[in-house]
Amino acid sequence: MTFKALVATQTGDAVSTSVIAMDEQDLMAGDVTVAVEYSTVNYKDALAVSGRGGIIKQFPLVPGIDLAGTVEASSYPGIAVGDKVVANSWGLSQTHHGGYAQKARLSGDWLVKIPTPFSTKDAMAIGTAGYTAMLSVLALEHGGLAPARGDILVTGASGGVGSVAIALLSGLGYRVVASTGRLEEGDYLRALGAAEVIDRRTLSEPSGPLGAERWAGAIDSVGSHTLANVLAQTQYRGVVAACGLAQGVDLPATVLPFILRNITLAGIDSVNAPQSIRLEAWSRLARDLDLEKLGRTTSVVGLADIPEVVARIFAGSVRGRTVVDVNA
Ligand code: NDP
Repeated sequence: MTFKALVATQTGDAVSTSVIAMDEQDLMAGDVTVAVEYSTVNYKDALAVSGRGGIIKQFPLVPGIDLAGTVEASSYPGIAVGDKVVANSWGLSQTHHGGYAQKARLSGDWLVKIPTPFSTKDAMAIGTAGYTAMLSVLALEHGGLAPARGDILVTGASGGVGSVAIALLSGLGYRVVASTGRLEEGDYLRALGAAEVIDRRTLSEPSGPLGAERWAGAIDSVGSHTLANVLAQTQYRGVVAACGLAQGVDLPATVLPFILRNITLAGIDSVNAPQSIRLEAWSRLARDLDLEKLGRTTSVVGLADIPEVVARIFAGSVRGRTVVDVNA
């Protein structure tokens, strides 16, 4: 029995993709086989599919850092045939075939059972971006933040991490300020729960090491000057979760916000997060994420549409989350 997969191959430095038929012998080692229903296109998937950032470590490979589906076979304790499962990152799309195929075989260690009330499609509407947003919220809470402390800034607001972060934070009672380069998405951001929408250009240029104290906390998926300015504007004992690099990998900041304002900069890594943290994040998503808001963030495409979505991600024109229906 063959199944459909989008496969990335490399010729010289160029990476290209095509949708092909694979069979079970093409699958990699693992103790669980999953009939994949949905995957998604995150920023990291865009990097992988386009050959940027050295994400894929061996070719040919099925990209897709996320997948959700139904277990077809399992010798892994605690995971049974028929379970609905989700995998986020680990080696997917780096050294192991990922989610852009109708079938996957992988380690049971990488799987989380999808919590009620989520469907496999919801799990991919969340995907690594949404799970990273939840990890970021957990980091703010770990730093002691609560809604009464003041405004929380979300940068890269119209993107996947940003959209889910706004929905989560507003649901938890925070006053959320959304920073975006797309002010035309103001209605979308307010519908997710943003109380205020600001132009990202107010944060993206170099400025001084300390500014007026505006934010009790922030979730930043942008990095570079934006993160430096966010740190400079964070209130005494505030917390900033840094999870992304959409503007750049640099951080042209000083130590002054740390030693004069006692702020905390919390790093967020979704790829190698231990299973206990993943389980906590997924159970909090099940409790705190409004499914109606999640639906507003989501559009659905098929495997063959992925290269076009990738081009739109780099053009900055994808809003929210893109789910891939691998059976479409
Ligand atoms: P998206 O492409 O969906 O969103 C990124 C958003 O960043 C864009 O929508 C845009 O928002 C903003 N942006 C884009 N370019 C720039 C720029 N030059 N300057 C300022 N803002 C910009 O990506 P994701 O939400 O999937 O991921 C966001 C970031 O988080 C990425 O860098 C990704 O690599 C990282 N990430 C990290 C993870 C981790 O484990 N640490 C896991 C998941 C993601 P707007 O138009 O509203 O301004």
